[in-house]
Amino acid sequence: MNPFLELGIRHEVVNAISELGFEKPSPIQEKAIPVLLTGNDDFVGLAQTGTGKTAAFGLPLLEQLDFSQKHPQALVLCPTRELCLQIAKDLQNFAKYIDNVHVVAVYGGANISDQLRQIRRGVQIVVATPGRMLDIIGRNAIDFSNVKYVVLDEADEMLNMGFQEDINNILSETPDEKKTWLFSATMPREVRRIAQKYMNDPFELTVGTKNTGNANIEHHYYLIKAKDKYAAFKRIVDSNPDIFGIVFCRTKIETQDIAEALIKDGYNADSLHGDLSQQQRDKVMKRYRDRSLQLLIATDVAARGIDVNDVTHVINFSLPDEVENYTHRSGRTARAGKTGISLSLVNVKELSKIRHIEKIIGKPFEKKQVPQGAEVCEKQLFSIVKKIENVEVNDEQIAPFLPAIMENLESLSKEDIIKRFASLEFNRFLDYYKNAPDLNIEAREGSREDRGDRRDGRSREGSKGYTRLFMNLGSVDEFTRGDMLGFICNNANISGKSIGKIDLKGVFTFFEVQDAEVEKVFQGFQGVDYNGRQVRIEVSGEGRGEGRGGDRGRSRGARRDGGYRSDRGGRRDGGFSGERRDRGERRDRGGNGGGFRDFSGRRKESKSKY
Ligand code: AMP
Repeated sequence: MNPFLELGIRHEVVNAISELGFEKPSPIQEKAIPVLLTGNDDFVGLAQTGTGKTAAFGLPLLEQLDFSQKHPQALVLCPTRELCLQIAKDLQNFAKYIDNVHVVAVYGGANISDQLRQIRRGVQIVVATPGRMLDIIGRNAIDFSNVKYVVLDEADEMLNMGFQEDINNILSETPDEKKTWLFSATMPREVRRIAQKYMNDPFELTVGTKNTGNANIEHHYYLIKAKDKYAAFKRIVDSNPDIFGIVFCRTKIETQDIAEALIKDGYNADSLHGDLSQQQRDKVMKRYRDRSLQLLIATDVAARGIDVNDVTHVINFSLPDEVENYTHRSGRTARAGKTGISLSLVNVKELSKIRHIEKIIGKPFEKKQVPQGAEVCEKQLFSIVKKIENVEVNDEQIAPFLPAIMENLESLSKEDIIKRFASLEFNRFLDYYKNAPDLNIEAREGSREDRGDRRDGRSREGSKGYTRLFMNLGSVDEFTRGDMLGFICNNANISGKSIGKIDLKGVFTFFEVQDAEVEKVFQGFQGVDYNGRQVRIEVSGEGRGEGRGGDRGRSRGARRDGGYRSDRGGRRDGGFSGERRDRGERRDRGGNGGGFRDFSGRRKESKSKY
C-alpha cells in the first residue's frame, strides 16, 4: 500500500503526488502529517527548506477543508513572492484531482485587482506575503471569520524581514479557535515568542538537530588573501565544470561587479539583487531555472525564497553579516534528499567567523585547497572528454557535411583528431592557467599580510593615485568595512574597485578613493543623512590640524538642498544609501522582496544596498 495512503491521505491526492514523484513521505511529512490530520493541535515544525515542508502542511490542509464552501478556511503566510507562488502552485498540484479547490496567491509587486477578483470569486486557501495581505484586509476585501488554519511558513525569515507587526495584525483578523502551524528553519527567541503568544501548547517537531543545517550539505572553506578572492573563486568554478551554483554577496554592488566580471570572463552568470524590477527578477530566475545560467550571484535578501532544486554549490563569496543567514544560504543546496556543498572564501581574519558558524550549525567545516592551475586543466580536460563521449549526434543533419569533413581531416590519424577536438576548449584553460600561482595561504593568525586589509594589495595611507578621505561615521554606527564600502559606493555611484583601504574607527572612518573619483564622493554625499546625522566628508588631515593644504579641506557635506543629480539613474534613493533630508521615508506595503532591517532597526521595503 502506498505509504501516503497509510498516513491517511486520500486517493486523489496520493495519485497527484505520485505523478510528482513522491514515492514515500520525507521525514517531516512522516512525522507531521499524522499530527496535523487530527486538526486538534497547534504545531511548531523546525525544518529547513527543501525538506518537504509544503506537503507536510499542504496534504493535511487538503484533508481538513470543506471544498463545497467557497470562503477562506486556510491562510498560509510566507516571506517572499517566490515562495508564495511556489506554495500556491504546490497546493494546486496536490489538489489536482479534487474538485472545486480554489487557491489564491496574494503577494506584492503584482496587480492587486486580479488578486481581489480571485478572492471575490471564492477561495478556500489563501497563500500570502504579509504586506499585501494587510493591504487587502485594509480594503475589507476578505473575510477571515471562517479560517480554521493559519500556517506561518519560514517564520524566522518573516521576522528577519520585519514582518512581526504585520503578522500580529493579520492574525488578529482570524478567529481565536483556529489552529496555527508554524514552520521555521531556525528557532531564534523572536520565533519562540510568537509560538508562545499565539499558540496553545503546540506540538513541537524537529527534523534534524535544532539549528543544524541539512546533513547532506558539506561545508568547506578556502583560506586565501582577500585580493585573490575572485581568482580563487574562478579556479573553484573551473574545477567544477558542472557546477550549478548560487554565489552570495553582501551588497548589490558586489553582486553586479562579480556578475559583470564573470560575464566578461565567459561564464553564464547574472546577478539578482534588490534593485531589479519584478520583471527583471523573474527573467533572471527563469534563466537560472532553465539552466541558461550556471551561476546566480545574489544578495541574501534577493535570494530569499529561491526554490530551485539541484543547486550543486552555494558559494559564500562574502560571509554573511548575521550567522543565521549562513543556514539560509546553505539551505539552497541539498534539497529533496540530494547532496550539496556550501563553500566559503575567507581570509585569516574571517576564520573566527567560520568557527562561530561551526558552533551554530553543529558541524565542522573542511578546509580545502584552492586547486592549482594544473588540477583545473585536468578537470576541464576530462570534462571535455566526457562531453565528447556523451554528445548526441544527429546523424541525419550531419550526414550531408560528412564527406567534406572527412576530406578535410583525412590526413590526420584518429589520435590526432581526438587531440585536436579536446584541445579546442582545453587550450583556453591551458593558456589561462599557465604560470598560475598557488593561492592558498596557511592560517598564521594575525599574519602581516592579512591584518592590513589592503584591497588589491595597495599600500597604506597616501597610496599613489588615491586620496584619503575622512567620514564622520564609524563602527559605533554599526558599520563593518563591507557596509562602509557599500555605503560609499552607493552614494557616490562608483565601483568598489575605486576604493582603497578603509580604516574604520569608532566614530569616524578614513578611506582611500582613486583621485579621479574623489569629486563624485563629495557630490554623492551632499545632503545625505544617516540616522538623523548629516554625513560629513573631508580630505584627511585637512581642517583637522594635520595640514595638507588645497581646497578640499573644508567639509563638503554641508549642503542641505538634497540636489539629486540626474546622471545617477535614481538607483540609490533610500535604503542603505542614507537618506536625504528632503525625502520622507516611504513604507511601501505592497512590496515584499526587498525588506531588511536597517541599522536603526526599521524595516525598509524600498531600495536597499541588498
Ligand atoms: P519543500 O521543502 O516543500 O520546498 O520541498 C522541496 C522539494 O522536495 C520540492 O521540489 C518537492 O516537490 C519535493 N518533495 C517534497 N516531498 C517529497 C517526497 N515525499 N518525495 C519526493 N520529493 C518530495
